[in-house]
Amino acid sequence: MKTLLALTFLSQFALSHGLENHSTQPVLASIEDLKSIKAPIWASDDVTGVGFSYLTPEMQIKMQDQSHFKGKCGGFEVLPVAEAQSFSSILEELNQLKKQVLKDQSYLNGPVKFAPVHYKAFIEEAASLVQASNLHELVTWLSSYPSRNEKTAQRNTHVEAMRLKADEFLKNYKGTWKTELVTHTSSQQKSLKVTLAGTTHADEIIVLGGHHDSTVGGWGGSSGLAPGADDNASGSANLFEILRILAELPPQARSIEIMWYAAEESGLLGSAEIAKSYKAEQKNVIAVLQLDMTSFPGSGEMTIANITDFTSPWLHDLIKQLNQHYVGLNIIDDKCGYACSDHASWYRQGFSTAVPFEAASKKMNPNIHSKKDIVSPELSFKHSAAITQLSLAFALELSSNTGLRPPP
Ligand SMILES: [Zn+2]
Repeated sequence: MKTLLALTFLSQFALSHGLENHSTQPVLASIEDLKSIKAPIWASDDVTGVGFSYLTPEMQIKMQDQSHFKGKCGGFEVLPVAEAQSFSSILEELNQLKKQVLKDQSYLNGPVKFAPVHYKAFIEEAASLVQASNLHELVTWLSSYPSRNEKTAQRNTHVEAMRLKADEFLKNYKGTWKTELVTHTSSQQKSLKVTLAGTTHADEIIVLGGHHDSTVGGWGGSSGLAPGADDNASGSANLFEILRILAELPPQARSIEIMWYAAEESGLLGSAEIAKSYKAEQKNVIAVLQLDMTSFPGSGEMTIANITDFTSPWLHDLIKQLNQHYVGLNIIDDKCGYACSDHASWYRQGFSTAVPFEAASKKMNPNIHSKKDIVSPELSFKHSAAITQLSLAFALELSSNTGLRPPP
């Protein structure tokens, strides 16, 4: 019923604006990006700099090419059908985003700052188990699929293989665990989700995620080789390495959920549905970490970016502290624009997010979204391993320290 109403609205909307086309999509993106491709902006918010538009397939191609040029993986978020049913629901989505941004600004300007976290030997020991050679092997494996794009007939072949690998990693795990393939309405591709249940605070969830799909030039990405080694076999591999190590440790107090999202390259489709459903079910997600491109050391090996827009300041602080305790990377602050990756889906639903990224946006891998995004000497698995250690520390600190939670 909902779908029918939505389709009625969308087709009327598109018809009345001369945009009727089954591929035309409702999106949220930065106002600046929408203006530069001359997309019509139907609603916008100046605080966040985010606007709502209705993109034709040609505009979607332009947007993707431009995003890539500007140094980001994604660049726009396709609104799930339920969120684009009416102007009031679109305004509500924009408003929700604004509320989150204002809350983070008040944290930054306010007197109360994030408390220090203490060094823990078990986290350092766990971080020492990360192996760059494992990441190399995993990225080689995932990038050997001709394409992981959601529009290909083989869209789920690698996802099913990934699930088997996760099952294998977990077979001796001492805690309660589950692997599942998550189906979506906006894509035929599935996400993979692994749950490691918490012992004393199982309803409090730490999410680690990254997209498993790949794309090649322009909208669609359904034909041609799309190895996607850096984007995003690298982040996917980091998640597997983290899972392998977590599976050797005792379960933590809070639950850890590791997610490999479907169809990020088509507008954050998988993560948007998951984040929306978590919000609707009032799940208590404490923090969400996004790993999307971690192996190209464009700003120098062992220098990474901490993304500061549409992410949470208290988690920026946490990342810096964890880095000092356990990793020793050089971290620079940088922005990537609205919807540069799946964290936008969570942030817009009111959850706290963090994104450690391979390099400053302007220095990111120039080969992504092409058949040249392969395992090569240009990638550094040492660099990617350091981001993995930082992400593992993030998971362990937040899942073991139940006093840590988003500021009110
Ligand atoms: Zn990506």
